[in-house]
Amino acid sequence: MPATVIFFTKVCFLILSFSCLCYGHSEHHHKTISAHKHGEAEMSIAMEGEDIEIDLQSSAADIVGFEHKAHKKDEKLKLAQAKLKLQAARSIFQFEGGDCKLLEHNSDFSAVEDKRSNIADHIHTTHISIPEAKQHSDISAHYHFNCTNIDHIKSLSVNLNEIFPAIEKLDVSWIKNQHQGHEELSKNHSKVIFK
Ligand SMILES: [Zn+2]
Repeated sequence: MPATVIFFTKVCFLILSFSCLCYGHSEHHHKTISAHKHGEAEMSIAMEGEDIEIDLQSSAADIVGFEHKAHKKDEKLKLAQAKLKLQAARSIFQFEGGDCKLLEHNSDFSAVEDKRSNIADHIHTTHISIPEAKQHSDISAHYHFNCTNIDHIKSLSVNLNEIFPAIEKLDVSWIKNQHQGHEELSKNHSKVIFK
């Protein structure tokens, strides 16, 4: 192979590798800046053995009504109330069949929580405003249930729309042993049936 061809092959390879790196980076970048749709949330349900793991992801707007860091007292109150609502797993999820107990729950409000110290809060309340980038923010929640007789679980009702009316559509993906399915829940259709 002539040296010039080898050289161009190497250059092409480098360009390709570099563009792949750039692409990979931009993918990562997009994941950190959430591009959710308001009114629509996502949920995944994984059932295996005696365990059910449920993950919920929603825009902060649909859960607390805003997507910036909570600075004001009423905003912080909204966060606290939403956390309690998400924590009340029994009012959100109702299994038909099986016997399920909530083992673990956690929620992530970090995108809208103001972690600055009280001093910083004080500075803020004295009207030295700190500019914030306009961006979308997500809130997520995780639930781990332990259930006896998972095979007897026929369906799961998700009352998320009753608790957070702004969530009009809930996109649910589920895996139960070897089966999987997808369900789009709404105000009038809140049950996932495991077939
Ligand atoms: Zn948003």
